[in-house]
Amino acid sequence: MDFVVLGTGDAFSSKHFGSSAVVIAPEGQVLIDAPDALMRALASASASSGVRLGPDGIDDILVTHIHGDHVNGLEAFGFWRWLEWRRTGRTLPRLHTTNQVADRLWHRLAPAMDQGGTAALSDYFELRVLPKSSPARIAGLDVRHRMGRHTVPSCGFLISDGRRTLGWSGDTTWDPGHVEWLSEADFVVHETSPAPAHTPVDYLNALPPALRAKMALIHMPDDFDAESTSIRLLTDGELVRF
Ligand SMILES: [Zn+2]
Repeated sequence: MDFVVLGTGDAFSSKHFGSSAVVIAPEGQVLIDAPDALMRALASASASSGVRLGPDGIDDILVTHIHGDHVNGLEAFGFWRWLEWRRTGRTLPRLHTTNQVADRLWHRLAPAMDQGGTAALSDYFELRVLPKSSPARIAGLDVRHRMGRHTVPSCGFLISDGRRTLGWSGDTTWDPGHVEWLSEADFVVHETSPAPAHTPVDYLNALPPALRAKMALIHMPDDFDAESTSIRLLTDGELVRF
């Protein structure tokens, strides 16, 4: 399975794009979260990875939670595809998320996107709430989710193409149950940043070697000490194959 890392930064980063990725799925590209400057992040990652990435090629978006560094890019992406729909009638992108995010997402986007009260979320995205106990079928992938522990409802993902599985923690404070759930994946992307909202790297450093060996870190503060861990650090624009 291949995925391109768009960004590895935390909410305050002045050096990196926000933590997000595009999974190259059997039936399309699947965006995980939509950080600030999404268009520039896609263009930059496209140039460095050699994988063509842009709002025209992404029909499925997974959203972990509603913090701005994970959803601020939805406004530009939504308008871009709305204009494309007006020009060509092309179908809208599907937005897959938890019922907690689905309930509040439009409250967040509406002041900028409701066009004087005439437009709704469904004018920009086809909203699909992730089923609680069964996988969602998305672009040829089976996607399961689990709630982590964050300051707002936030989920992680297990994303499988039937042969390989990608684990994605989403934003979460240290949660042994979450890591245990993610550990069935062949490759685990875990966030790290200071407590209490996030997972300090010391907890991850204490995990069994076999799990650490298939783990990579994202959502790092700009002053993160690369020497503080032996776990792989992801980089903006990197293509990961596993
Ligand atoms: Zn967050």
